[in-house]
Amino acid sequence: MTYLIAGGALAAAAAFSARWAWWRPSKPGLPVLCYHKVGVPPAGSKLKDLWVSPENFRRQMLYLREKGYATLLFSELLAIRRGEAPMPEKAAVVTFDDGYENNYVHAWKIMSETGTKGNIFVVFDTIGKANLWHDPASEPWVNMADLAMLKEMQESGVVEYGSHTMSHPKLPKLPLEDADWQMRESKKRLEEALGRELCAFAYPYGAGAYVPEVRALALKYYEFDFSFTQGKTAWPWDRDAGPIDRLFIKGSDTMLDFALQLSRGASRL
Ligand SMILES: [Zn+2]
Repeated sequence: MTYLIAGGALAAAAAFSARWAWWRPSKPGLPVLCYHKVGVPPAGSKLKDLWVSPENFRRQMLYLREKGYATLLFSELLAIRRGEAPMPEKAAVVTFDDGYENNYVHAWKIMSETGTKGNIFVVFDTIGKANLWHDPASEPWVNMADLAMLKEMQESGVVEYGSHTMSHPKLPKLPLEDADWQMRESKKRLEEALGRELCAFAYPYGAGAYVPEVRALALKYYEFDFSFTQGKTAWPWDRDAGPIDRLFIKGSDTMLDFALQLSRGASRL
């Protein structure tokens, strides 16, 4: 009987270990969390895992605060990179792709209440409109934050911005001069609209992050470029070696997943 129980426990532990990466050593490096939408997915969404519920998002932000992570704004990361400020002993960067209205409705409010901060990569042409690059048959259109919301969040000191291009294209599929325009024009227009300098860029779909001629364009305009590749990037960052990787937070993630992402750079195998 004891053997049976022990055997069962072992099998359960083995199954658990085959799914979650708790046994992996902690990985050094800067954890950069990647979110999209905070809220409840609309009916018909086939990308439900890109939606994190407000309850889970609040738990995750509280976890960061309780574990002593400083959540950095891009301007703070830039000051650290320039040697004007030290990197906190424990730091994380919270990022959101695309610029959804639900970032304003839910994420900003929750970050304000939990004393955490985040950064949103905005698609300039869709400000105040919808996620028009998605096929509505697989991901229904939802509202994007408008300029007044973006400014209000910025003025609160809780949110800063990066660029996510003008129209969310797959950059490597464009002629290089069009890819160049997407990166240059979005920086210029966002800076005019927000009255602040932009230092960060995220590649739509992660496409182009590892295409040397596309990445070279991003590095012309931005100090930081962020990939869609799962992982943590060593700090100090070797800018020539590649973009900064991120930890993709899914709607189905548990708090164990979240903790393992932060410490190991991945939660599941
Ligand atoms: Zn995107």
